Amino acid sequence: MTKKNIVVVGAGYAGVAATKFMAKKLKKDDVEITLIDRHSYHTMMTELHEVAGGRVEPTAIQYDLQRLFARKKNVKLVTDTVVGIDKEQKVVKTQAGSYAFDHLIIGMGGEPNDFGTPGVKEHGFTLWSFEDSVRIREHIEHTVAKAAIEPDATKRKAMLTFVVCGSGFTGIEMIGELVEWKDRLAEDYKLDPNEFTLKVVEAMPTILNMLNRNDANKAVRYLEKKNVELVLNAPIVEVFADHIKLKDGSTIPTHTLIWTAGVKATSDAADFGLEAARGNRLVANEYMEAKGYEDKNIYIIGDLVYYEEQPNTPTPQIVQAAEQTGHCAAANVVSAIKGDGEKHKFKSNYQGFMVSVGSKWGVAELFGKIHLSGFLAIIMKHIVNLKYFFDIRSGYYMFQYMMHEFFHIKDDRNVTRGHSSRYGNVLWSVPLRIFYGLVWFIEAFKKIVGNGEVLKPSTWFGEGSWFTGNSVFPWTWDYAKEAATTASSGAADAVGGASATAATTASSVADAVGGASGAADAATSGGAEAATHAAHFGLSYAYGEEPMAVLDKAPDWFSSIMKVMMPNMDVAMFFQKMMVFVEIGIALCIMAGLFTWLMNGTTIILVAMFCMSGMFYWVNIWFIPVAFALMNGSGRAVGLDRWVIPWIQKKLGGWWYGKPKSLYNQK
Ligand SMILES: Cc1cc2nc3c(=O)[nH]c(=O)nc-3n(C[C@H](O)[C@H](O)[C@H](O)COP(=O)(O)OP(=O)(O)OC[C@H]3O[C@@H](n4cnc5c(N)ncnc54)[C@H](O)[C@@H]3O)c2cc1C
Repeated sequence: MTKKNIVVVGAGYAGVAATKFMAKKLKKDDVEITLIDRHSYHTMMTELHEVAGGRVEPTAIQYDLQRLFARKKNVKLVTDTVVGIDKEQKVVKTQAGSYAFDHLIIGMGGEPNDFGTPGVKEHGFTLWSFEDSVRIREHIEHTVAKAAIEPDATKRKAMLTFVVCGSGFTGIEMIGELVEWKDRLAEDYKLDPNEFTLKVVEAMPTILNMLNRNDANKAVRYLEKKNVELVLNAPIVEVFADHIKLKDGSTIPTHTLIWTAGVKATSDAADFGLEAARGNRLVANEYMEAKGYEDKNIYIIGDLVYYEEQPNTPTPQIVQAAEQTGHCAAANVVSAIKGDGEKHKFKSNYQGFMVSVGSKWGVAELFGKIHLSGFLAIIMKHIVNLKYFFDIRSGYYMFQYMMHEFFHIKDDRNVTRGHSSRYGNVLWSVPLRIFYGLVWFIEAFKKIVGNGEVLKPSTWFGEGSWFTGNSVFPWTWDYAKEAATTASSGAADAVGGASATAATTASSVADAVGGASGAADAATSGGAEAATHAAHFGLSYAYGEEPMAVLDKAPDWFSSIMKVMMPNMDVAMFFQKMMVFVEIGIALCIMAGLFTWLMNGTTIILVAMFCMSGMFYWVNIWFIPVAFALMNGSGRAVGLDRWVIPWIQKKLGGWWYGKPKSLYNQK
């Protein structure tokens, strides 16, 4: 069999879904999948308003294609603009070259539809691409800056009036961002936020018309509460640089008209000679095959395709439809290549709609029956977005998304109202880091020295050292009893029950825990004495008080696991000694600020295990919150992480993903 060439045009939601699907299913076949897009990145279109509205940085919605397809050996990326298709010769023509295909999938998306309204192109701003979102952001900043120094009140008001035309997802999500951004802009340019006017102009009598009326009305009430004026039944008939004209002849002075009123198929596909329907979308059959070219293996997907699953109702121009049409076409290509004789019909499965109105409030309708509003709808939108990364198998961008949306957001513009994104100078945590590392070091060192003298190495490994005697771990009592001395069994008898944990091991347990000095004193003074003093709950050691263990006895399930891991005294002693070296290593790393996040995370796990073992006291539970606090990147200030982590990221990233480029494989 000769090598099959599959060409996918457009790395949007549809093209990426189709390419991922085929790359996996055809992993063992002799195929090359060429994914052509005019950008070297996939644009997270559903978050364009966040860039336009100053919430996230532009790079937050650009997903480098090489990072998405790095491990897919059968995928070749090309950054180029497709200008035509020779359907007979089966060749895709780009600005810089041409690509022969056996199977072609076209997913070039849509573009704004101004319905021929005069002035939209010249004076309006559309929101349907990465470039559009950056243009709007820059224009708004620029206009507010100009308004701030404009002495004429009328002109200034026009400059500070922002109008969104259209009340679908895009329009409402855009105005929601402006509601939040205006406060920051007002502060930066020393303006009164009340000087800003936000309007949504809609030709229909209602907004968010794809939603259930109840949900849409909640959005209306929310927008009104936020002083957004909804101008309904008001088609825009002309757009000028400093005002817009409505059908009833009235005008709205504004320097910013964001046009989101309609979408049509990309005009780049208009000359492909394929049959088009409403909105210039290209007609396909139920297998997503381009009408009239079913024998040429040409498929149309995403916003570009016109397929009526129900009479007179084309597939909606939403992400779910884009992915599902992409999967349908890809499944048909796979079947054709494998020759399994199957044909896959498109079957939609839409799970609902989610519309954010700013970063903290939204409305969602799921499965046609669950209705959410407020922050729950926003959480749902984040869950759906996170699931998207799972679908396209990109842990890297899932992580980046969480960083951008939850941890690195400015002005409290996220669903946690900024609680997850407060910044502080990590320099202030350096003393704590060094102290915490030192605590681990001293406790680990005590386990070496035992009752010897620190400055006399010859006395090290004395009584109580983790390197001598029997294991200190409580699940080793049983085999310790068999092998060891009458003393240990005597102590165990004396204490009995839960307190046995502390008492039996006497000095060794207390030392092992690195616990409170009180614990050590109490325990070393003998099992019987320990048993007679009632332990007191406290989170710091109070003089003379017997501290309370978090658990006095390891739960049975935990002991069972440990007994499997350490079946006899020799293995237990090996683990015990190794533990001391691990603790010293952790201590040194924390002090030096090396792998600080990982090391502190490890100490949390170790403390949890010590607690489970009945070997840890409440007075030392502060280890856990301190370790969490030090996971704030504290090793980047006066620590080795400042150099080591970027170096590792660069090396690992280069090895796994290769070096991201602005142009891939141009011919
Ligand atoms: C602001 C905004 C918010 C939205 N919110 C939602 C939402 O919440 N939920 C929802 O479901 N949908 C939403 N949508 C709609 C959704 O983004 C689209 O339905 C989806 O992007 C369609 O995917 P696609 O792959 O068909 O096209 P696109 O994602 O548009 O991708 C098309 C790709 O083709 C490339 N391309 C185009 N022409 C050429 C050419 N000539 N040569 C090479 N490459 C080319 C483009 O660069 C692009 O990468 C929103 C859209 C916008 C703009």
